Amino acid sequence: MSEERTEISEIGEFGLIDHLNEKIIIKNASTIKGIGDDAAVIEAGDHVKVVTTDLLLEGVHFDMSYAPLPHIGFKAVAVNVSDVAAMNAVPKQITVSIALSNRFSVEAVEALYAGINAAAEHYGVDVIGGDTTASRSGLVISVTAIGEAKKESLSFRSGAKVNDIICVTGDLGGALVGLQILEREKQVYLANPDMKPELEKYSYVTGRQLRPEARMDIVHELRELGIVPSSMMDVSDGLASELFHICKASKIGVTIYEDKLPIDKQTFDTAVELNLDPITCVLNGGEDYELLFTIDQKDFEKLEKHADIHFIGHVTKEEEGKFLVTKSGTAVQLKAQGWKHF
Ligand code: ADP
Ligand code: MG
Repeated sequence: MSEERTEISEIGEFGLIDHLNEKIIIKNASTIKGIGDDAAVIEAGDHVKVVTTDLLLEGVHFDMSYAPLPHIGFKAVAVNVSDVAAMNAVPKQITVSIALSNRFSVEAVEALYAGINAAAEHYGVDVIGGDTTASRSGLVISVTAIGEAKKESLSFRSGAKVNDIICVTGDLGGALVGLQILEREKQVYLANPDMKPELEKYSYVTGRQLRPEARMDIVHELRELGIVPSSMMDVSDGLASELFHICKASKIGVTIYEDKLPIDKQTFDTAVELNLDPITCVLNGGEDYELLFTIDQKDFEKLEKHADIHFIGHVTKEEEGKFLVTKSGTAVQLKAQGWKHF
């Protein structure tokens, strides 16, 4: 070991993953795609399997003072299903590993599993295994999801082509705004436990944070319409950050339009109330778990009337850069802040 010490914050989460990936050599022909997409892809006879894993830690990814255990369980499954959806694949199995401190009772674990089982039912996946161990630092949940697809219907981050249309489902920024509300009400409660938090009027945004939905409905609809997105990701770190990933993997540029970005009214109003810029919430808020994808122009007509798919811009040449055209018509450079874990 050398004396050198580099802080992880210097290279960031993605820099760290890229750095580790440099030393990883794929040995098996059955490994179609390793590190670098929403899920890995493995050859499986006449179809392929996709595999993805996510780790959720108490105090980092959820706060048990406001996140109910069934919601934590549901979310742990949904975020993995979302990564399977992002490959345009269908989830089939999950494994669930948990680390518990002695603060947890059997009833608490049952409550967590009520949410896990509800999500497994909802997304049609089987819980096929996992691991259970003790924790000294709160609850840890790791879920691995396995999905299936036809090889030719997979959507990678790397397939976007110049002139493709950039699409996003649902609305964005809600989960971030919901988190800010939950944090604010927690502080109010801590300062004065007699104060009852007023969360009713924020139910949409807090729901976006506490119990996100993976967009498997969109994957099925695209299949029925015979559309394979040229590239796809789920929005877990923030729209701008995800667009940067697609740009890097596909070697393209993007132009998106502020007035096309989908935001819910409650998200907008709550952002304003919190003194946050709603567009910044849409661009950089994480955890919405919507799908961001690109389609060939010939597929536009089939999706044009879809109520929950928004066309936010188009793909340009790499050297044209990444731009956001504001409502006033000015093109500004897109910045990817995203969620910073380090
Ligand atoms: P997502 O946000 O879609 O879950 P991540 O940003 O977590 O994706 O991960 C990006 C890629 O890096 C994925 O292919 C993931 O499997 C891989 N990855 C993340 N952490 C590690 C790690 N510690 N070792 C190996 N691969 C990793
Ligand atoms: Mg993802």
